[in-house]
Amino acid sequence: SLSNGHASPPNPPAIHVKFTQLFINGHFLHSLSGKTFETIDPRTGDIIATVAEATKEDVDAAVHAARHAFDSGPWPRMSGSERGRILMKWADLIDQNAEEVAALDAMDAGKLFQWCKMEVPSVANMLRYYAGAGDKIHGEVLKMSREFHAYTLLEPIGVVGHIIPWNFPSTMFFSKVSPSLAAGCTMVIKPAEQTPLSALFYAYLAKLAGIPDGVLNVVPGFGPTAGAAITSHMDIDKVSFTGSTQVGREVMQAAAKSNLKQVSLELGGKSPLIIFDDADVDKAVELALIGILFNKGEICAASSRVFVQEGIYDEFEKKLVEKAKAWVVGDPFDPNAQQGPQVDKKQFEKILRYIEHGKREGATLLTGGKTVGNRGYYIEPTVFINVKEDMLIAQDEIFGPVMALMKFKTMEDAIKSANNTKYGLAAGIVTKNIDIANTVSRSIRAGMIWINCYFAFGHDVPFGGYKMSGFGKDCGLEALHKYLQVKSVVTPIYNSPW
Ligand code: ADP
Repeated sequence: SLSNGHASPPNPPAIHVKFTQLFINGHFLHSLSGKTFETIDPRTGDIIATVAEATKEDVDAAVHAARHAFDSGPWPRMSGSERGRILMKWADLIDQNAEEVAALDAMDAGKLFQWCKMEVPSVANMLRYYAGAGDKIHGEVLKMSREFHAYTLLEPIGVVGHIIPWNFPSTMFFSKVSPSLAAGCTMVIKPAEQTPLSALFYAYLAKLAGIPDGVLNVVPGFGPTAGAAITSHMDIDKVSFTGSTQVGREVMQAAAKSNLKQVSLELGGKSPLIIFDDADVDKAVELALIGILFNKGEICAASSRVFVQEGIYDEFEKKLVEKAKAWVVGDPFDPNAQQGPQVDKKQFEKILRYIEHGKREGATLLTGGKTVGNRGYYIEPTVFINVKEDMLIAQDEIFGPVMALMKFKTMEDAIKSANNTKYGLAAGIVTKNIDIANTVSRSIRAGMIWINCYFAFGHDVPFGGYKMSGFGKDCGLEALHKYLQVKSVVTPIYNSPW
């Protein structure tokens, strides 16, 4: 039994991994070096599949294909609605294969299968959103002066390099490729080395849907090799990165040192959830737990700092412990499990190091803190109290099921503490008082504010950070514009002296 007296894990559906090669110019290929790497099942540490490993020369080939597809292929020259029809077809194919690809994500990333089965259809809808937006891209007519007429054209930015993390392999893939494809760009995408499988499956479906060869290339591989080859490539026009703040810095440096390609970064967070005295305590406890335990805390917007007002603090703490202890950590294919294993050994060990560090720096472990089971990368829901704002566990992104719980007196104190971070990705506010909700949402320096909810994402709602959480939004029409550039065209109205 893994935890909390729950029965032994069920067998997952039989998973046959079909696609393990690089996808370049419309073909599945071995890497030029012949290198491969293993992708690991975090439930056990066993190998799921051996995958072709892209290195610089493979990235070169992929960029070459994307460049050719952009400079002389049909994709950027099609009308937005023609591209949209193909993307809609791709979305239908994703729906038809949802269960199979969901199982790949669940196994590759240790994500709840139940959740993945909802996530995959939702990425198909995200794709449809952008498929329908591609024929609504237009510039403006500008008056300039009497003699001139000016207008702007929005043109696709060119060849895009996407680098994505492992925590939401499907959502990350589509939050990058959907708007950039709709914009008419061509691209090379590197999935994370921990989770390459669904991306390759999606590439196969893209081909079936009729996306022309070279438009979408998928190059599994590692950050310092394949990733760095993308960020420093002279023929990539933009890099869109989601991952750690540390690597985000390297991405920007590489872009600056090579061809000054445009950069957008969606980076780490240490998001606050602020719960006021008037909150329904049971609901607030639910939100706080979801905020840190959803996807085992492996989510950039996790509410890893929870601030509770003093009037309800004791009741909140008591209820939180009860619920955290009852939380079911278990096999992600078990429909009763609420939390699967961390993605890999490296993350698992990193989180455990932070827990040890929290104890050493003087915080008190209220609940959790230990591993679960004797194999795989499971960690208990963990809550620290007596946390000081300058402690590492209150400042660093841990990316695991570890909450720092803190008490506050006044709204002003809460705002000050919530903003005491280098990050600015998201924040949650729990209150029935509209004045508090309005004041706090305007005072927090973060790109996403959830009032009386948490993790309420929508493919039409721009998502992205303030401060060191990055810049350039994913989702919404904002993301479409990230892959477009503005050209101004000016012409005289009559024979002007100019
Ligand atoms: P994590 O530490 O959580 O794995 P990373 O930011 O390291 O997050 O990884 C996010 C993505 O960035 C992955 O696809 C990874 O391979 C890639 N990556 C890591 N290092 C680099 C690098 N130096 N240059 C480009 N991409 C990188």
